[in-house]
Amino acid sequence: MQQFKTLIQLVEFFDSESKCHQFLKSVFWSKGKFCPCCGSNKVQEYKSNFKKNRCGSCNQDFSIRKNTMFDSSRISLKKWFMCIYLINSNKKGISSCELSRLVGITQKTAWFVLQRIREATSTNFFNESLKDRVEIDESYFGGDAKNMHMHKRVKAKGIYKKAVVLGMVERGGKVKAIHVADSTALTLQREIYKNVQEKTLLMTDEYKAYASIGWTYNHKLVNHSKGEYVKNGELNYREGRIAIKIHTNTIEGFWGLVKRGVYGVYHWVSKKHLQRYLGEYSFRYNTRDLHNSDRFVEFLGGLANTKLTYAKLIAC
Ligand SMILES: [Zn+2]
Repeated sequence: MQQFKTLIQLVEFFDSESKCHQFLKSVFWSKGKFCPCCGSNKVQEYKSNFKKNRCGSCNQDFSIRKNTMFDSSRISLKKWFMCIYLINSNKKGISSCELSRLVGITQKTAWFVLQRIREATSTNFFNESLKDRVEIDESYFGGDAKNMHMHKRVKAKGIYKKAVVLGMVERGGKVKAIHVADSTALTLQREIYKNVQEKTLLMTDEYKAYASIGWTYNHKLVNHSKGEYVKNGELNYREGRIAIKIHTNTIEGFWGLVKRGVYGVYHWVSKKHLQRYLGEYSFRYNTRDLHNSDRFVEFLGGLANTKLTYAKLIAC
């Protein structure tokens, strides 16, 4: 696979729309051609027109952009590819102002493009359950600028104004971050049951919403209010006992990363778009071992059925 170590290399490689279409075909159709309308594999490409393919089953002509987030967008794939590469290569993200300058599109267009990319990252990747050793912590976003650092629940008595997010991360593995309605036991535990396999070793802090989770999981906690951050523990296996460190430092590190980006790059994220931003950060985190060009290809590979209309974006 072609490696793009820099944006220049990407731009030089994708020097025409036909090359972009060919590349998208090679990613989407890596296991064989199919029609995005009916799923049939009786697909023929027009030699004279790279934008046209024909389905022998539903007799429709379609472009490879059909039923993806590129559908009905007037921006060239060349520019889309630049945007995807840039947002996924920047650890903290990229603002619509910066993107519009770099790619040469209006800020409004850049904002829309970024929201589509975020929507894809928050819905199309990593839908499996977490297992083995999972750290869990909830966090709070929002409030006025003065209080941005006061996100911990201890200081956030006025939590009703803040958005609550629940983070779950497998040690050495992937993260899931979900915008939830509130921080009650019912809400948080419902998400945990949905996303973490039974009998997993769960590590949390002492927050009481997690108190009864031990019925379903092997629950260990660290008591932050007593200054306890890392505790020694052990797991019993048939082969013997294995020492483990009980802490929630991994998930807290992830929240640190998200907050530095959301407050530092984006300055403000409204509640209605928060889940998309969580998707953006989670995708980069979950592909952290990949090079930028492999992450770019990984993203393209997950794009089927990510169409998002402007109406849906502003309505929700
Ligand atoms: Zn078809």
